[in-house]
Amino acid sequence: MNGVARNGIGFDTHRLVPERPLVIGGVTIEHDFGLAGHSDADVLAHAVTDALLGAAALGDIGMHFPDTDPAFSGADSIELLARAAVLVRERGFEPVNVDATVIAERPMLGPHREPMVANLAKALALGIGGVNVKFTRGEGMGYVGRGEGIAVLATASVVAAAAER
Ligand code: MG
Repeated sequence: MNGVARNGIGFDTHRLVPERPLVIGGVTIEHDFGLAGHSDADVLAHAVTDALLGAAALGDIGMHFPDTDPAFSGADSIELLARAAVLVRERGFEPVNVDATVIAERPMLGPHREPMVANLAKALALGIGGVNVKFTRGEGMGYVGRGEGIAVLATASVVAAAAER
């Protein structure tokens, strides 16, 4: 276990619907549509949370923060990510880095990259060099390409923390 890096993957997707805020990576973005969900539906925060929990073999976001629980109605998913990071550290792992690809046809997300990275890094208690966020499109194909939803793929790595070595 000593110094061994462990990896986790995460995937999430939410539908784009009218009359919802569009929150991605803790950034509220001006758009005609927002993501549907029980929480704030922050698809990026959710995928990163699953990747991080996966790296620590701690299950998934739904096990820890169930969308059937009224306590998580409208929840700030960056806050849930921060709580997941606490669980991971309690398990004896130190987050090292996360990388994510947001797949969205519109709006343009590139201009929001910096605050997204900052929000994720803060929640994870990582330096901004530990977080990377990328953007790509569906090229008109499938539900993402038609603008019906946004999807995110993420990975996270952790190492056994010093106290556990
Ligand atoms: Mg989700």
